[in-house]
Amino acid sequence: MKEALINQEPKWVDTHCHLQLTDYDLTDLDYASLEYLIIPGVDVSSSIKAKNISTRLPVKAYWAAGLHPHDAKNLHEQKDELLNLIQEADLIGETGLDYYRDHSTREEQHENLTFHLEQAKKLRKPIIIHCRDSFKDTFELLSKYEGEFPVILHSWTGGNNWTKKFIELDVYFSLSGILTYETAKDLKLSVKKIPMNRLLLETDTPYLAPGIHKGQLNKPEFIVETAKELASLKEITLNELSELTIKNTNTILGK
Ligand SMILES: [Zn+2]
Repeated sequence: MKEALINQEPKWVDTHCHLQLTDYDLTDLDYASLEYLIIPGVDVSSSIKAKNISTRLPVKAYWAAGLHPHDAKNLHEQKDELLNLIQEADLIGETGLDYYRDHSTREEQHENLTFHLEQAKKLRKPIIIHCRDSFKDTFELLSKYEGEFPVILHSWTGGNNWTKKFIELDVYFSLSGILTYETAKDLKLSVKKIPMNRLLLETDTPYLAPGIHKGQLNKPEFIVETAKELASLKEITLNELSELTIKNTNTILGK
């Protein structure tokens, strides 16, 4: 009886948590509400760490290898190692375009994103995309690969118009703690338009802690706050949201 009750607790897939970028005691975190995790790399060394961590957590975890747009300028020196890691990884990323910080030139960012997209096409692996203030160019680049492999738009923040456009590309929209912020009015409206089979959840640990934990370092267990917000916006129960987001992530991973 007790077991049956425990099984009814909704579980979550954290599709984007950088546990390798934290100082957490990883055996000490609370994973009870987590079905599994995806740990993306942001460069060679963090991708290797993601791989190592993924095998020694008390919860199932997948890992991704990639080069973040901030470090796109390092593509040439990291390319060979990235190719090997990408070959081995469960997913590719995170990569993408970030025109908010512009830590690498736009040209370097385009080259870097294209490199990852070509690998995703070749290996038929899912890719994790960071898109900040770069909707138009991200859309154009992704359009060239439409339907070739699963695409996760991580920490989606687009308003109505861009959400509608990207829905046409049949990508997945991963919602982070940003969804819980009072200021995220456009995002809350646009999320109502996203098809149920395209919704995902993430924390982006250690960044973007949900509203009630704001100011703290984020951790996977905080995902439930974003889940509550998303369930209420979509007018479904937490259990329904749990079931469908697990199913969506399983589909991406070919499970
Ligand atoms: Zn990230």
